[in-house]
Amino acid sequence: MGKYEHYLNHQIFRAVSEAACETQLMACVVGGYVRDCFLDRGDKNDIDIAVVGSGIDFAHTVASKFSPVPEVQFFKNFGTAMFTHNNRKIEFVGARKESYRNDSRKPLVEDGTLEDDQKRRDFTINAMAFDLRKSTFGELIDPFEGMKDLEDKIIRTPLDPDITFSDDPLRMMRAIRFASQLDFTIEPACYEAISRNFARLGIVSMERVVDELNLIILSKKPSGGFRMLDETGLLTLIFPELLELKGVETIDGKGHKDNFYHTLAVLDNVAGTSDNLWLRWSALLHDIAKPATKKFIQGTGWTFHAHDFKGSKMVAKIFRRLKLPLNEKMKFVEKMVLLHLRPIVLAEDSVTDSAVRRLLYEAGDDVDDLMLLCEADITSKNQVKVKNFLENFEVVRRKLVEIEEKDKLRNWKPPVTGDLIMRTFGIPPSRLVGEIKEVITEAILEGQIPNDYEAAFQLMLDEGKKHGLTTVSK
Ligand code: ATP
Ligand code: MG
Repeated sequence: MGKYEHYLNHQIFRAVSEAACETQLMACVVGGYVRDCFLDRGDKNDIDIAVVGSGIDFAHTVASKFSPVPEVQFFKNFGTAMFTHNNRKIEFVGARKESYRNDSRKPLVEDGTLEDDQKRRDFTINAMAFDLRKSTFGELIDPFEGMKDLEDKIIRTPLDPDITFSDDPLRMMRAIRFASQLDFTIEPACYEAISRNFARLGIVSMERVVDELNLIILSKKPSGGFRMLDETGLLTLIFPELLELKGVETIDGKGHKDNFYHTLAVLDNVAGTSDNLWLRWSALLHDIAKPATKKFIQGTGWTFHAHDFKGSKMVAKIFRRLKLPLNEKMKFVEKMVLLHLRPIVLAEDSVTDSAVRRLLYEAGDDVDDLMLLCEADITSKNQVKVKNFLENFEVVRRKLVEIEEKDKLRNWKPPVTGDLIMRTFGIPPSRLVGEIKEVITEAILEGQIPNDYEAAFQLMLDEGKKHGLTTVSK
């Protein structure tokens, strides 16, 4: 474990210490901040202060030590308060005891001792505190051997895990999230309790579940987290579409790959090259329509025709159910799923300029992310095949740069607009306008005419003529 003392060398802890002295109250920093000090990432987390007394009053006393005095926000119903200091959230809570009813994550709360407060926390590694009182400043208070579990890399609940998880089922997601994020193991009894209680996750709001799911997806090797979600049963509640990808069918001695494990491998590969959450979601969803499009064709074998197209159409429904944002992030994922085969097809054929131009036009600024996804999609065990693919991708990448320099297609709009077509021929909006525009776009992408206004205008006139249109004079 690294040195952690310097994490306590903050103005805020000195202020808490003084306030504890003045008020004669027990006060400490507890939870994630303490854990992260030992993991040497202490400067990232919010600071949670627990006090054996009123959290709100204590927050005001601490705040008064600063000038200017920060504004304290408080929540009477919860007995909590918070203010920001140096862009950092400092939260205050009175030590409390919690008891739960069957149908809700909302506990009944009463005042308690510090140990009561540590007991109500989810895991031993999250239940440690540093004493902030002057005479014992910096002493670790660790009644559940969180430190040992941190060293052994173990996730364990302070109390009986069946009770812990049944009380607040979100903790099951958090267990797997921490295991995946920190590369820890969930203690067997605790893991079994998750498998027994997984169905209770149903009482938790989807937003909270997906917050944790996103942290799993953002971890270094997300497949570990997904395997646990799968094994414990939680995945059936969160993401049944992903489970549909599981399994291998064999006809006439021919099997296809297991698309569940393939998807997880692709996700890990993307995690190795990009921190973009939405590119990682694209990896998770890239083959989501394979079950719906699967067919065995005599002579050809297994096919998943149009799974790219169908998959991109499934994204919105999945995002809606998971309460993920229905904005440009979702559009990005739809686009990635739709285009995920394109660079592979390119790399398989000879890489023609027109195919690269088309890809640049359709992918726009997302073309680099698309390339990362495609490279990640090569999970074959055949090393020769992998090498060939990656070499061809290099050719595609070079061509992408070359053609972009020449044709600037990333953010390209065809030089002739529908509006110009209507004005030139004096016609109202119609399918024909769209068709003429399409012919011009195609001709430029295919390299039949140069990418400039004159050539495009001329082609428009020729096309108009073919359809019997004449230009109107102004
Ligand atoms: P991070 O901030 O890195 O996500 P964290 O452990 O700080 O991790 P928070 O959600 O910020 O997590 O919670 C702060 C502390 O509050 C935790 O360390 C834990 O002690 C406690 N806690 C949070 N959520 C729960 C819960 N659902 N059940 C019990 N204790 C919890
Ligand atoms: Mg935190």
